[in-house]
Amino acid sequence: MRLILMGPPGAGKGTQATYIADHFGVPAISTGDIFRANVSKGTPLGVKAKGYMDAGEYVPDEVTNLMVRDRIDELDAKPGFLLDGYPRTLAQVEELDGMIEFTGHKLDAAVVLTVDDEEIVQRLLARAQSEGRADDTEDVIRRRQQLYAEQTEPLIDVYRKRGILLEVDGMGEVDDVTQRIFDALDVVPES
Ligand code: ADP
Repeated sequence: MRLILMGPPGAGKGTQATYIADHFGVPAISTGDIFRANVSKGTPLGVKAKGYMDAGEYVPDEVTNLMVRDRIDELDAKPGFLLDGYPRTLAQVEELDGMIEFTGHKLDAAVVLTVDDEEIVQRLLARAQSEGRADDTEDVIRRRQQLYAEQTEPLIDVYRKRGILLEVDGMGEVDDVTQRIFDALDVVPES
């Protein structure tokens, strides 16, 4: 199973990614988590990414693409993977297409969680209190939402045209959203 999970900042992608990936026995690969781990360890990748992340900007494609390529090349991702937070730009879509094509496989589905922007700002501000993420301040959250609308939302149409888009209501209880995602994935034919 090769899946991507999309949705605006705070849509609950990370939480859902873990459940879905466990179900299919594939790794959940979160670009945001990988960047944060590198920032906290102070690796060269982390040093490169930190300024962009703190400002709510996207890390440049060259940096992100290389990181994802390396991660997908690891052994545990051979049977499949769930990408959380990648691709976010049209250039990343092309890059991912190349990576998957190279292995002779295809992308099975692109799941998009739809949520209410205003409610999300409140959710993220609450998360700022509990987790202390540097990019969960109101200004930076709004910038992340704006970038999502400008650069990532257009990807929805790309995957819709390919016939692999699954739009799922991301509002409400975590378990309900998980169930909706599983229901939606059932309609994807086995590959
Ligand atoms: P969010 O919920 O805001 O989308 P993430 O944890 O997915 O949070 O990502 C945090 C930050 O990591 C982003 O704001 C961005 O700076 C960087 N990032 C993550 N994925 C990508 C990507 N595919 N391309 C560019 N930057 C990314």
